[in-house]
Amino acid sequence: MDTTAGTARDAAQKIARGRCLCGAVQFEVHGPLRPIIYCHCTMCRRSSGHYVAATACAPRDLELKCSEGLRWYQSSAAARRGFCMHCGSQLFWEPRQGAHVSIMAGALDGRTGLTASEHIFVADAADYYRILDGLPHKPAD
Ligand SMILES: [Zn+2]
Ligand SMILES: [Zn+2]
Repeated sequence: MDTTAGTARDAAQKIARGRCLCGAVQFEVHGPLRPIIYCHCTMCRRSSGHYVAATACAPRDLELKCSEGLRWYQSSAAARRGFCMHCGSQLFWEPRQGAHVSIMAGALDGRTGLTASEHIFVADAADYYRILDGLPHKPAD
């Protein structure tokens, strides 16, 4: 029996929970989460205050347990960003025609069991930090 594979599968399929800072948006993910991708694009940097660390799931796997505070900002023709109107937490990034919804990793509860896979839009990175973790870089996405 390969216990390593079993552990990874269980970890990928457990229910993940998350919420905004004030609790007016709460969610669960009933399915696998993608490895973390760091995005250095100017829109992520402006809206978050730094660069973004995001996981993602299939839209059908995202269940909103409380959406009272959830509002969407259409940040480009291609995508919109979900945030809490009360506390300002950034939570989601949803492409208009995509097979996934991104979830800001900092919104997840507790230990995620996730690892990071790459940096994207590094051509847009700011000049006040260096990317030194050895993960792959992409100039755009
Ligand atoms: Zn909130
Ligand atoms: Zn971005």
